Amino acid sequence: MARIGFIGLGRMGAPMARNLLKAGHAVTGFDLVPEALAGFAAAGGTPVASAAAAAAGAEFVITMLPAGPQVREAVLGAGGIAAASPADAVLIDCSTIDVATAREVAAQCGRAMLDAPVSGGTMGAEAGTLTFMAGGEPEVFARAEPVLRAMGRTLVLCGGAGAGQAVKACNNMMLAANMIVTAEAMILAEKLGLTHQALFDVVSKSTGQSWALTSYCPVPGPVPASPANRDYAPGFSVALMEKDLGLAQAAAESVGAATPLGAMARSLYARFLAEGQGGLDFSAIIQLLRRGDIT
Ligand code: NAD
Repeated sequence: MARIGFIGLGRMGAPMARNLLKAGHAVTGFDLVPEALAGFAAAGGTPVASAAAAAAGAEFVITMLPAGPQVREAVLGAGGIAAASPADAVLIDCSTIDVATAREVAAQCGRAMLDAPVSGGTMGAEAGTLTFMAGGEPEVFARAEPVLRAMGRTLVLCGGAGAGQAVKACNNMMLAANMIVTAEAMILAEKLGLTHQALFDVVSKSTGQSWALTSYCPVPGPVPASPANRDYAPGFSVALMEKDLGLAQAAAESVGAATPLGAMARSLYARFLAEGQGGLDFSAIIQLLRRGDIT
């Protein structure tokens, strides 16, 4: 069993760390928020007062933080993970961040490192069924595999440093577009006199099917566990989705790829965020579409 430092015990990090504990690993954790540390301690983890303390003596140091600036600071900043971790430690960043920062941090940290963002949401994090998409060296991926296996079901090495983040940007651009069009179809179905359940029953077995529909249905009822059934409490927040769509557009611009639907999805989420709805689950975009003044 491994000694693991875990930094960022939020909606995703907390259940991921719990699954590491359940698998028998010794996990030392840090978060800026005291309640997150208390929850981690209640699950059997060892809370500490800094990222450096979590990294000291660890074989693996996992970060699950909001975005690139927090990851850069936590790893490379004064008193950061790079300096505090043993020379042979493996750093695994599971946050969703921009490709450029992922490459920069991997190149500068002086440790073996993987970018390993995840898909599967908070439900996948709870169930230990996340998909990990990794970037890094094959031998580092092989070392990390038993640790990732405790939190996920599908592990894919996508290429060198930054490759995991590149795949994640593509995935979330597809997810956002799928969610928006699913919400549009639900509203259209209502206006045409259909029930949500009828649309769900057919499309979940038809060619319009998507994860946005079958796991995260944006209306209450058809999928009882979806955020729509709890007033759109996240889940995966509008703010994080808007961030990821910005990462996808930046990546697309950097290589001259045409992503008109991705650009439209970003502008809709940016508008919803600007209206103060960043804390809702991203499936709440149906509320913006329902208003009918969207062109
Ligand atoms: P969250 O806001 O719930 O958790 C982030 C945690 O990091 C918070 O508890 C915060 O206090 C902590 N934190 C921030 N800066 C810190 C620092 N410097 N040191 C220590 N702790 C710090 O967010 P989340 O939903 O858990 O998402 C985390 C990452 O995972 C994001 O990059 C997100 O895009 C990605 N992600 C989220 C989901 C999802 O469904 N929520 C799914 C896939 C990927």
